[in-house]
Amino acid sequence: MSVADSARASRLSPSVDWLESVDPATGTVVGRVEVTPVDQIPVRVAAAQRAARAWGAVAIAERVRILREAAPALAAAVETIGTLASREMGKPLPEGRGEAKHAASVFAADVESIGRSLAPTIVEDERTRSTMRFDPLGVAAVITPWNFPVSMPQESVLPALVAGNAVVLKPSEETPLTADAWAAPIIAALTAAGHPEVLQVVHGDERQGRALVRSEVQLVVFTGSRAAGADILEAAGPGLKRVILELGGKDPLIVLEDADLEAASTFATRNCFRNAGQVCVGTERIYVAKPVAARFTELLVEKARALKQGPCDEAGVQVGPMVHGRQKAMVLRQVEDAVKRGAALLLGGAGSAGDHGNYVPPTVLANLDHSMPIMREETFGPVACVMTVAGDDEAVECANDSPYGLGGAVFGSPDRAEAVAARLATAMVGINRSCGGAEGTPWVGARHSGYGYRGGVEGDRQFAQVRVISRSKPPTA
Ligand code: NAD
Repeated sequence: MSVADSARASRLSPSVDWLESVDPATGTVVGRVEVTPVDQIPVRVAAAQRAARAWGAVAIAERVRILREAAPALAAAVETIGTLASREMGKPLPEGRGEAKHAASVFAADVESIGRSLAPTIVEDERTRSTMRFDPLGVAAVITPWNFPVSMPQESVLPALVAGNAVVLKPSEETPLTADAWAAPIIAALTAAGHPEVLQVVHGDERQGRALVRSEVQLVVFTGSRAAGADILEAAGPGLKRVILELGGKDPLIVLEDADLEAASTFATRNCFRNAGQVCVGTERIYVAKPVAARFTELLVEKARALKQGPCDEAGVQVGPMVHGRQKAMVLRQVEDAVKRGAALLLGGAGSAGDHGNYVPPTVLANLDHSMPIMREETFGPVACVMTVAGDDEAVECANDSPYGLGGAVFGSPDRAEAVAARLATAMVGINRSCGGAEGTPWVGARHSGYGYRGGVEGDRQFAQVRVISRSKPPTA
């Protein structure tokens, strides 16, 4: 339902519960959506179960064709979707629009590539010919966060749909309008093909998320915090529901003594402060070799100081606000605690020029150690934490001293850096670059950063039930 429609409905039915979406930079209301009553969630899931039966019976090539039909409308809506993403969660407009544009530009190719991953595959030995099929599971609950409000739904919903599942998407309560705008062209394409309830969006907070996980779904695809992931895993247990969890991170950056310090400090500046640090693979800990620590830190502070912070629609802004006041309070609490325990505040922190509204200014801390919560708990804010280490061994030991294991980066001469990377516990590591891999590799976490993953052939196949149908081969003469 559009915002205008919702407003009309509100006048007609005052009992409706509304979710207001607020611009975190200004506090102004961006729009509102109807909250899905918790007792309606099983009803929506039952409709999805019915829809899944027909959708799952459609040949995969036809599912791909139908979904592809959404691509032009998605491309036409890029400006609307990207602007909503920025207004709802605060990222600079070029980044919101960039995220929407990227999603639209890869949409058709991704649908096709998932289709190829899930096509039946023949495996033979001397005596047996087996067909590996990747069949639908049923209904997938897809629950997403607010930090990348377009790409997170897209990356989870598309493989679920191509696999022949119906999807009930519960986007973050911080970015409901973006999710509705992104889903509308896909729902339209499915409806035009006679499958209106194959993708549904429900709105609300963790209460709706919890109800969805506990309803008759066969797959839960969750991207979000470690605590919510643990709760979901527990709830999925009794029903043995399949679960894909993409959780938080505490990504290390290791700067070796032979690193290009210009490149390393530029990377650190981008990866600590992009999206105001609200990135699952944001750099949260920097371990820098003693001989180069002073120069690296000087460059980092200089570059961080030059960043412009402000609302999403101000020209030249690179760092936005925190998504809400609770996130700001949590980040500042960690910074203040570290300073109390002896950390050096080199830039930013509470009480500096940017300390208004939901803003946390770009902050750089040094003199850190692993007794401090800021080196152990996910911060999810614009804070660079620099710790000096004696050499490669201490860097590896510190980097691995974390319950998380999502991404990481090592800067140094490539072979030495790769040898260090191989010793890290994180699932994705970039050498002199960020951690995302080549096309076809999955986005994957280790340890408490998640179970299951997406992307690449292996990732796509997790959204389907593998079935093996075998027949004997006639004996050869
Ligand atoms: P969150 O866990 O608070 O919420 C995520 C979603 O889950 C929201 O839609 C929320 O309403 C819902 N939810 C919350 N508790 C739930 C529960 N118990 N049961 C079911 N649903 C529940 O996370 P957030 O604040 O929206 O997002 C930030 C977190 O997401 C960070 O930890 C970040 O690292 C993580 N994240 C991870 C990845 C990745 O790829 N690994 C990507 C983006 C974000």
